[in-house]
Amino acid sequence: MQQSLQQALVDFHKEFARVTVPDDAVIFSCPAADVIKLGFEKRIPLVKLCPPQVSSDEFFNVFEQVCEIVIEFTPELAEDIDKIAATLPVEPEERMLFVSRAFTPGTSLITDVTPDYSTETFGFLINHTVKPFMLRYSQEVGKLYELEMWLKGDCPVCGGKPSLALLEKGTGKRQLYCGLCEIKWRFHRLGCPYCLDGESHFFTVEGMEKYRVYYCRKCHGYIKTLDQEKTDGKSVNLFWEDINTVHLDILAMREGYFNEQACQPLKDPEK
Ligand SMILES: [Zn+2]
Ligand SMILES: [Zn+2]
Repeated sequence: MQQSLQQALVDFHKEFARVTVPDDAVIFSCPAADVIKLGFEKRIPLVKLCPPQVSSDEFFNVFEQVCEIVIEFTPELAEDIDKIAATLPVEPEERMLFVSRAFTPGTSLITDVTPDYSTETFGFLINHTVKPFMLRYSQEVGKLYELEMWLKGDCPVCGGKPSLALLEKGTGKRQLYCGLCEIKWRFHRLGCPYCLDGESHFFTVEGMEKYRVYYCRKCHGYIKTLDQEKTDGKSVNLFWEDINTVHLDILAMREGYFNEQACQPLKDPEK
């Protein structure tokens, strides 16, 4: 059962990985050096400091591709997706506004008071549409901050929570990883990255010793962690590590822990 769920997830994400956007699909205006310095000191996520600008045609083009993939894998959602598509803006100005809101943390894109579609499906489609753009954006914008010095539980680019952590080979230093922007940043070796308060405990699973699942008894957050010391030294792709360890998520959730994954609409980190 877990094996087939795992395989289905891998197949699904392989399709999504094919959805890419051109290099110039995302632009942003680079702030002055003193603004970057202040932004870094105040730990303001880059998405707020220099928001990504995306053409609405490009955005809705990706949105359609995402819908096709979701329908291919889960045909039962087709009706819901049709309803969602019918609510999307048509006028160029409204489309632009919609897209800019999609990249603004903490903004809801659902305008219907009582939507007749699943808001979860809506959120899922938007997240997967936003993702390839955020990937492009983070590759460029991430260079503005010293990620090794960030030391915060939230992603320096989108402000979201990490989906995975990595213990570096040799040094044992911990890096956190954002599943949306696919970037890593340095964090303290110990302590909960969610509430910053709880102690670190972890469990491992037989046969999967290179992973630890750290959990916090205070806020009930958990984070899967790859211990690079126990890998064969090859470079790791944290995106696929995350997907390939879904049964660790299931185990953690069964124990009452949760991970507020980055794969959520952009959350306002101040809330
Ligand atoms: Zn992020
Ligand atoms: Zn905690």
